[in-house]
Amino acid sequence: MRVVVVGGGAVGASVAFHLATCPGFAGEIVVLERDPSYARASTTLSAASIRTQFSTPENIRLSRYGWSLLAEAPRRLGVDCALRDRGYLILASAAGAPTLRANHAVQRAEGADVALLGPAEIATRFPWLSVAGVALGALGLSGEGWFDAASLLQGLKRAAISAGARFETADAAGFDRDGARVVAVVAADGRRFPADVAVNAAGAWGGETAARAGLRLPVRGAKRTVFRLLCREGGRIAVESPLIVDPSGVWMRPEGQGFIAGVSPPPDRDPPAIDFEPVWDDYEATVWPALAARIPAFEALRAERAWAGWYEMSDWDANGFVGALPEAPNLIHACGFSGHGVQHAAGVGRAVAELVATGGFRTLDLAALSPERVARGERVIERAVI
Ligand SMILES: Cc1cc2nc3c(=O)[nH]c(=O)nc-3n(C[C@H](O)[C@H](O)[C@H](O)COP(=O)(O)OP(=O)(O)OC[C@H]3O[C@@H](n4cnc5c(N)ncnc54)[C@H](O)[C@@H]3O)c2cc1C
Repeated sequence: MRVVVVGGGAVGASVAFHLATCPGFAGEIVVLERDPSYARASTTLSAASIRTQFSTPENIRLSRYGWSLLAEAPRRLGVDCALRDRGYLILASAAGAPTLRANHAVQRAEGADVALLGPAEIATRFPWLSVAGVALGALGLSGEGWFDAASLLQGLKRAAISAGARFETADAAGFDRDGARVVAVVAADGRRFPADVAVNAAGAWGGETAARAGLRLPVRGAKRTVFRLLCREGGRIAVESPLIVDPSGVWMRPEGQGFIAGVSPPPDRDPPAIDFEPVWDDYEATVWPALAARIPAFEALRAERAWAGWYEMSDWDANGFVGALPEAPNLIHACGFSGHGVQHAAGVGRAVAELVATGGFRTLDLAALSPERVARGERVIERAVI
């Protein structure tokens, strides 16, 4: 069997790794990546954080496998992904508290190690944090934190290559079809990669890639800026802080001696991504005021630099697509993870490998994430999108 994967970011590399190491699979795996420097890939531009604090069982389970692969990366991938077990602290106002409680019930049912804390408990644990306007917090006690996404990508890629996969520098420009089936992926330079199965792991370009096969998949790029921050009074905070999500939507976490932070704009101010210029206005207008109010020491915060990347937004329900459409049954989509795709790359890659090798999901049923849900009018609403 010949499998051609379009996109060699964390998701495509994970598909290749899991397929190449899947006991039941014997065949050829080719990954087409148009930019092996990964300068614009979401994987290398991400905040590289991982949480179990989602609202859907699938996303929680994907994170738990993601965590186990990161923890075992030295043995399984031959790299240390610098995994930090530091937790997320998601803060809610009175209006947001019922949603936090409902999400927590799903998380606990899935075995996630998350505690609900009242404002007094939060203030005791994190005395440098203001709890003004906070009605409730949810703190990950284990299995949440951050890591080095570039190491994860390189580890997956190298382990996939050692197990027999091939990475080619190629821009997938189109698909040759025989009726509904894809029979080859055609590169912009004319090279033709015959395929029994093709995988769309093109990230923010997943909608565009599907369109090249004549399919409609509601995945688009959405620009997000990450600010790198320094604070001369932030030493203790850098050591003690989990990733904090403020009720305003502003998030921040320690990174080395400093911090990184960002915010997702409301849907009505979220234009399609056209460039990679950081949006500095967001820092002045939203990020700094929220952080300075939440952490008084951050009055003295200094933005050292910023970068922007693209979320691979699913406009349908802010959840990823895993599976094929009936119009092209051997083109499997694995994209649209809406800001949580690095932590889920491991589990998505394993699920796609199982689909390809055995015809169905085995360890983790992701049938709910089928792209057919759009035509059926079904949404898998993820309430915890950051
Ligand atoms: C600022 C920011 C912060 C984020 N923070 C987090 C976080 O904390 N935790 C988390 O889990 N996720 C986070 N994400 C989301 C995460 O980065 C993505 O969901 C994830 O990286 C998607 O992986 P991918 O492999 O699908 O995409 P990518 O890494 O973008 O890889 C897709 C690859 O496909 C290639 N490609 C596209 N089209 C073609 C084509 N036609 N032919 C050949 N190659 C093609 C591209 O060059 C690219 O390298 C964040 C994203 C951003 C932008």
